[in-house]
Amino acid sequence: MKAVIMAGGQGTRISSIAADIPKPMISIEGKPVLEREIECLREQGYTDIIITVSHFAEQIINHFGEGTSFGVHIDYYLENIPLGNGGALFKLKDKLNEDFLLLNADSVFNIDINRFVEYHKSKGGLVTLFTHPNSHPYDSGVLITNQDGAVETWLTKEDVRPKWYKNRVNAGLHVINPRALDISGITPENVGEMVDGKYTKVDLDRQILKPLCGTGKMFCYDSPEYVKDMGTPDRYETVCKDFRNGVVQAKNLKNKQKAVFLDRDGTINKYVGFLRNPDEFELLPGVANAIKDINSSGYLAIVVTNQPVIARGEVTYKQLQDIHNKMETLLGLEGAYLDSIYFCPHHPHKGFIGEILELKIECDCRKPKPGMLLKAADDFNIDLSSSWMIGDSEIDVKAGKAAGCRTALIGTTDYLQDVTVCSLEEFVNYLK
Ligand SMILES: [Zn+2]
Repeated sequence: MKAVIMAGGQGTRISSIAADIPKPMISIEGKPVLEREIECLREQGYTDIIITVSHFAEQIINHFGEGTSFGVHIDYYLENIPLGNGGALFKLKDKLNEDFLLLNADSVFNIDINRFVEYHKSKGGLVTLFTHPNSHPYDSGVLITNQDGAVETWLTKEDVRPKWYKNRVNAGLHVINPRALDISGITPENVGEMVDGKYTKVDLDRQILKPLCGTGKMFCYDSPEYVKDMGTPDRYETVCKDFRNGVVQAKNLKNKQKAVFLDRDGTINKYVGFLRNPDEFELLPGVANAIKDINSSGYLAIVVTNQPVIARGEVTYKQLQDIHNKMETLLGLEGAYLDSIYFCPHHPHKGFIGEILELKIECDCRKPKPGMLLKAADDFNIDLSSSWMIGDSEIDVKAGKAAGCRTALIGTTDYLQDVTVCSLEEFVNYLK
C-alpha cells in the first residue's frame, strides 16, 4: 500500500520556532518530524512513499532523496503553483489505483497502521478517518457517526453544533480508495487551471471528504493512539516532552496498554438512582481534573457502566448516547476526555411492563462480571494486571478483581479492594 504524505503547507503559526525551514523539517528530539513519520511507516512495512512538496521543497528533497538511506522509496510531487491540500491527489491519480494512506507531514504520530488499514477493509468504505478524542473539542471540528461508525455529520469548529456531542476529532490520517476521488467530480485537468485570474485549488475536507457524509462510504476509526498537531509553539513543546518521556511510542496499540476503568454513576457523576435524561447528569467536583490527570499519565480512561435502564425500556440507545454526549462535552470543556465508553444494556429479571425482552438475559458484561473490561482489554491491547478499576460499589470491586485488575473503592466499606478513597480525585493523587 502506498503512503502519500502532504508536506506542502506553509506553517506560519509555528514560524517563531522555525521561520526558515518547512514545518515537516522541524526537529523533534533531534530528527525532523517527517523523518519520524517515515520511520513509523518503514517499521510497519510501508516503504512506497509519495511526498507532495511546495514551500522549501528543496530542503525536504535534499534531506530524504529517493529514500534509500531511510529504507524506503520516495517519489515527489512538486506543486509549482499551490493546488490546495487535495489538489496533488488528482495530479497523482495514475499512481493511485488502490487504497492508499494519506498523511499529514506536520503531525506527530505513532500508530499501529495495519490495525487502521484492517479496520478500513472490514468496513468496506471508500474512506476511513483516524479519529480520537482531544483536550479541546469545543474549538475543534467534530464528527458524528451512526451506530456502525459511518460519518453522518462533519461539523467544523465554526458550525453550530448540538448542545451535547461526542468528543471525536479528525486527526488528519486517512485510508482512501481512489474511487473517492472519482466521485468528487474533480478531474486532473481542472486542478490548477487558471479561472478568473486565479488557479483552482482543491480542499481535501470540503470537496472530497465532506460530500461522503451520510452516504455510508466514510467511516471513523476511533483510536487512543498518539497523534498531535504541532502547529503552535505550545503544542510543539508538549510534543517534544511527550517524545522524550516515551509517551508517543508507548501509546501505539502494538504495545500493551494500561487503563483506569471508571464506573460512571457515583464515580464520575452524581448518583441519582436510575439516570434517564441528560438534565439529571451532573459531574462530581474534581472529576474533570482527575480525568485530565489520567489522560496525561499514560493510562487510558475507559468508562464501564451497567445501564439496565435500556433493558427496562426506560432509556433508548439514542437517549443513553445523549447522556454520554453530555458527559463528554462537560469533560471536554475542562480539557479532559474519555478514551472509550462501554455499557451493559442487559438485566437478568424478566416480567416488567415496557421491558425489552431480548435484553433481559444473563449476560457476561453486567458488573460484577468482568465482560466489559475483558472486551476493552481485547479492543485496546490492555494489560489488565497493570490496570485499575475504580467505582463506588461492591460490584465494581468484584468486576475489577475478576478481570485481574487492581481495585479502588470510593466509599468506606471493605470489599477487599486494594485502595479506599473518598473521590476519584483522591485516587488519581494516589496513582501519581
Ligand atoms: Zn450485559
